[in-house]
Amino acid sequence: MPIDATQPYDDSNIFAKIVRGELPCTKVDETEHSLAFHDINPLAPIHILVIPKGPYVSWDDFSAKATEAEIVDFTRLVGKVARDNGCVEQGYRMLANIGKRGGQEVPHLHVHIFGGQPLGPMLA
Ligand code: IMP
Repeated sequence: MPIDATQPYDDSNIFAKIVRGELPCTKVDETEHSLAFHDINPLAPIHILVIPKGPYVSWDDFSAKATEAEIVDFTRLVGKVARDNGCVEQGYRMLANIGKRGGQEVPHLHVHIFGGQPLGPMLA
């Protein structure tokens, strides 16, 4: 069920629990401010989620409130994950679902990285 991304951050969400180590994840990479892990329900041969560790619901929230260090760290980790997982040579897709009409289900900002197959004009 898509969430309302204008609501205040709720730290009981599943990705907040992963960041705090209360729930497991299959980690791909980690930095001071960001974490990358495999999506539990992959929609492509490569399907990795990259999240900031801080309490941000959406891209608009993150870009307005995060520190420059967090923004740089997150941006660099998205690119590093793409490079390190063989996405760059064949092309890949970055996607962030935001809010009710954007189809966002977990109320903690995450960028999906899809790769490993031809992706077509859009994923469903
Ligand atoms: P959204 O629709 O962009 O919010 O996507 C949420 C994504 O999180 C979906 O692709 C889910 O498969 C994924 N997901 C949900 N719970 C977990 C988990 O515990 N570990 C890894 N991925 C998860």
